[in-house]
Amino acid sequence: MIIVMFGAPGVGKGTQAAILAERKGIQHLSTGEAFRSAISAGTELGKTAQSYVQSGGLVPDDIVTGIVEEAMSKPDYAHGVILDGFPRTLGQAQALDALLEKQGKSISHIVNITVDNEEIVKRMLMRGRQDDNEDIIRHRLNVYNEQTAPLLEYYAGSGKMLNINGDADIETVYSRIDDCISV
Ligand code: AMP
Repeated sequence: MIIVMFGAPGVGKGTQAAILAERKGIQHLSTGEAFRSAISAGTELGKTAQSYVQSGGLVPDDIVTGIVEEAMSKPDYAHGVILDGFPRTLGQAQALDALLEKQGKSISHIVNITVDNEEIVKRMLMRGRQDDNEDIIRHRLNVYNEQTAPLLEYYAGSGKMLNINGDADIETVYSRIDDCISV
């Protein structure tokens, strides 16, 4: 079972991915979380990623896809994975397709969570993460619209897309997702 959590920053992808992973017993791979822990541990990866993450820009594709490829070659990922925050560019989506093809797998569902932009800004300001001040949030939303939203078209013909209204409490959004996936 390979689930891609999709949507603008702040729609609740990470929260829903964590609950899904726990309740379905599959791995949760958050590229953003991987960068945040590398940054706080001061690793080489962290040093490279730091300026991109703090400014709300995207880390270059080869670095991100390297992390995902490494994780997905581990045995505990054999049952499946919930990809949270990846892919975010066309290059990443193509790299994912190539990786899955090599592993004889394919995406099961793309969970596209949508929430109104102003509500997103409000939610992210409440979250209080270091890259969550209002200017950076608006920049991250622009980056999403320019580089990530076009993936909706890339996946449009796949028949895998689930459009989920994310404007509700956590459990309600979770049951909207759970109703659509069969695990
Ligand atoms: P997130 O936790 O998914 O909101 O990601 C936080 C930050 O990590 C993003 O603003 C990017 O700087 C970086 N990041 C996470 N995932 C990716 C990705 N797939 N491609 C490029 N940068 C990413």
